[in-house]
Amino acid sequence: MPIYNFSAGPAVLPKEVLQQAAAEMLDWQGSGMSVMEMSHRGKEFMSILAAAQHDFRELFAVPDNYKLLFMQGGAIAENAIVPLNLLGRKGQPATSDYINTGSWSTKSLKEARRYGNVNVAASSEDRHFAQIPERDSWQLSKDPAYVHICTNETIDGVEYQFTPDIATETNNAPLVADMSSHILSRVVDVSKYGAIYGGAQKNIGPAGLTLVLVREDLLGHALPACPSAFNWKIVADNDSMYNTPPTYAIYIAGLVFQWLKRQGGVAAMEQRNIAKAALLYDYLDSTDFYRTKIASSCRSRMNVPFFLADETLNESFLGGAKEQGLLQLKGHKSVGGMRASIYNAMPLEGVQALVAYLKEFEKRRG
Ligand SMILES: *Cc1c(COP(=O)(O)O)cnc(C)c1O
Repeated sequence: MPIYNFSAGPAVLPKEVLQQAAAEMLDWQGSGMSVMEMSHRGKEFMSILAAAQHDFRELFAVPDNYKLLFMQGGAIAENAIVPLNLLGRKGQPATSDYINTGSWSTKSLKEARRYGNVNVAASSEDRHFAQIPERDSWQLSKDPAYVHICTNETIDGVEYQFTPDIATETNNAPLVADMSSHILSRVVDVSKYGAIYGGAQKNIGPAGLTLVLVREDLLGHALPACPSAFNWKIVADNDSMYNTPPTYAIYIAGLVFQWLKRQGGVAAMEQRNIAKAALLYDYLDSTDFYRTKIASSCRSRMNVPFFLADETLNESFLGGAKEQGLLQLKGHKSVGGMRASIYNAMPLEGVQALVAYLKEFEKRRG
């Protein structure tokens, strides 16, 4: 029986990648060493790093005037690293704008309050984060240091289906996005953003690696208190080698990038992700036995929260799913119900198996 893992993160990886990593575990390409045992400055690891950087830039169509940084600390560390690096562009105390669309943007803006003034320019909290606040309702500052959004809310299940244009109202403030849970799942116009960040463990690779893209003109303004290892300019000047990078996580991420290229790249993945999400949502919409709360215009293609109308059946639903090889469907504790995370590495067959189980369970218990 095939196993399908719907974890929100750390999440499923392509089987081919894990098989290659297993085959190379003890001896990477005749070097006599595991990648975990290599000096990060040796020629073997330097070639792994260069390939990963090159392949990511190609896949995500990163313009030349952006630095790609491989950091540590996850998106939660970046919540502090962003203000530490960008508030210094303005006189102190500086203001940054945040759009609150769910659990992760709430965390981001709370962290930012430790370093400067935060203007919550729009929030959907009063609508239980079931939609993205309409763009024309945003109350942006006139000259913020930056504007922060979370483009896919992993817990709440909302995703931006548009790229907000903020330049004219904000004196060209850079748009900063936490893309942890949908980076590489869809085509993005990087040039619309000043900085993009994301932890790797949702849609890219193992935990421990954080990707950052930052436009070059935004470097060099870190606050004096910013730790050197978190100073984007220092990390960029050292090609992500100021401190020892998470070498094994970079190696696996590199294998995922190669796998993505074999799948046809990000545009091809996006088409598959659209089809996968539509299959699941179409079924959920067709029945009263299951419910979804997210406005159809902002449904995430990656994270699909749903509920059984009769929540006393939750345990039985999860137990039956596990017997069918459908793992980690339990919703986040703050939302309850169920959540299916259907990242790049989840094949269409996995979503088909989930929908078949949804139907079967409904027939049996509905
Ligand atoms: C998972 C997640 C985070 C937290 O990432 P860490 O790696 O635990 O720091 C932040 N933002 C989003 C959108 C996430 O999905």
